[in-house]
Amino acid sequence: MIVNRGCCSLLLKKGSERQRELIRPSLRGDLIWCQLFSEPGAGSDLANLSTRAVRDGDEYVINGQKVWTSLAHMADWMMLLARTDPNAPKHKGITYFLLDMHAPGVTVKPLKQMTGDAEFNEVFFDNVRVHERQVLGEVNNGWAVGLTTLMFERLALGFGLQVRLRISLESMIDLARRMEKDGRAVTSDPVMRQKIAQLWIDTEALKYTGARAITKLLKGELPGPEASAGKMGWVETNQKLQELAMEIEGPYSQLAKGSDRAVDGGFWQYAFLRSRANSIEGGTTEIQKNIIGERVLGLPKG
Ligand SMILES: Cc1cc2nc3c(=O)[nH]c(=O)nc-3n(C[C@H](O)[C@H](O)[C@H](O)COP(=O)(O)OP(=O)(O)OC[C@H]3O[C@@H](n4cnc5c(N)ncnc54)[C@H](O)[C@@H]3O)c2cc1C
Repeated sequence: MIVNRGCCSLLLKKGSERQRELIRPSLRGDLIWCQLFSEPGAGSDLANLSTRAVRDGDEYVINGQKVWTSLAHMADWMMLLARTDPNAPKHKGITYFLLDMHAPGVTVKPLKQMTGDAEFNEVFFDNVRVHERQVLGEVNNGWAVGLTTLMFERLALGFGLQVRLRISLESMIDLARRMEKDGRAVTSDPVMRQKIAQLWIDTEALKYTGARAITKLLKGELPGPEASAGKMGWVETNQKLQELAMEIEGPYSQLAKGSDRAVDGGFWQYAFLRSRANSIEGGTTEIQKNIIGERVLGLPKG
């Protein structure tokens, strides 16, 4: 749903009247979107992408492969970056397309994660045809539209997920009240209390950072590189929270779903494993630090 929210903001800013008709069903959740940016040879260095879209009359013909596409196996529509001018500098020859996932020639193959779920996929394009009116923004200007998508996504991750973080924190405090360490409640351990209090402080800070970014959006501005700070803050806080949940469970942290002695049915083990991906999805932590260094602090390029 993070992708859906980011997509609707993007369609509102950049979409044609016809493309904007997709906003309402997407907000209702009747249409599910996925984002096809990453490729086997282009992750952090996204501008290196090699999926080709070649013009043929008023259509484009797409060939290539994407990877790590969340929800592609259940999505109705995709946001796709493809190379339309291989002779232009790599950031300049990319176009942004909106495509029906059920178009002939699209093949989706799920990939299994360490949680056991198959949340993301490989997507293959074999002569997939798309009409030129499905271009979002201008031809060969897809890089700028792609960056705007990522800013919206990071904003949604940083602000939207801090609400979920607050709910996880409340559940973790409840867990700490129920678990014991050396025969005493975990919550009576002063070090644990310090760690829990620090997480509450970090969550509050994220809430206000997110509120500042949302205020900017309400004033009609686009989210800027500060969305990276919100995303990074959320990643670090969520990973710390999940690690602390493992510490609170002590030896029980070894028991996952399927064991009848697993605490809370193995909920925390799943959340801990899933949280490892947070510092990769939506752009890695190293890339967020590069963006903050270069575009917020004005440091020289790495
Ligand atoms: C759960 C999950 C869901 C995802 N969903 C989607 C999706 O829906 N759509 C989509 O398009 N992609 C998706 N991705 C892919 C994700 O965006 C990429 O994995 C990510 O951008 C990193 O690219 P990469 O995996 O190719 O790693 P690489 O780019 O190969 O990076 C490898 C390592 O090198 C570091 N590194 C690379 N370049 C630099 C640099 N310039 N400076 C410092 N360090 C650097 C990285 O930080 C990382 O630690 C998803 C990933 C995950 C884990």
